Amino acid sequence: MWCPFCSHENTRVVDSRLTRDGMQIRRRRQCEECGSRFNTYEAPELKAPRIIKTDGGRQAFSEEKLREGMLRALEKRPVETREVERSIRALLREISSVEDSEIPSTLIGEWVMRELSKLDQVAYIRFASVYKRFEDIQAFRDVIEALEREAPGEGDRRQISLLESGRIAAKRPKK
Ligand SMILES: [Zn+2]
Repeated sequence: MWCPFCSHENTRVVDSRLTRDGMQIRRRRQCEECGSRFNTYEAPELKAPRIIKTDGGRQAFSEEKLREGMLRALEKRPVETREVERSIRALLREISSVEDSEIPSTLIGEWVMRELSKLDQVAYIRFASVYKRFEDIQAFRDVIEALEREAPGEGDRRQISLLESGRIAAKRPKK
């Protein structure tokens, strides 16, 4: 890699380590000519299908939007950042392993709900209530009741089986 300061062609790696989240490698390089040091980052390139919105429009998948939506649902909830990041990574893996060139936004919504349901019930309800736009109060009540049956007590992080319950069954892509 060329030196960004003097454009000399030879720079050498003096240190190499994983970033804190484990998703990138940071390399510290030094120019053999001028001695300047700089960092480079190496990260996996994840390909993602395009997203089909509910109005039929297509748009590029955005990791940032995914993260924002999840963090909004998790606001002020007692969930560790590490756990949230693990869920986001699981979603990114899932999304990048889709073989179709485009997938409906509703499918990603279902996957997000599945991950949130493992992390925190309140966050799950927040997301689901916005996302599913519960059509009537009974639908909302059914979800709350199912939650209470499945995971009584605040702070219980047992995985709930709502997503297997049929009402909001997620359609998984065929592998
Ligand atoms: Zn240089």
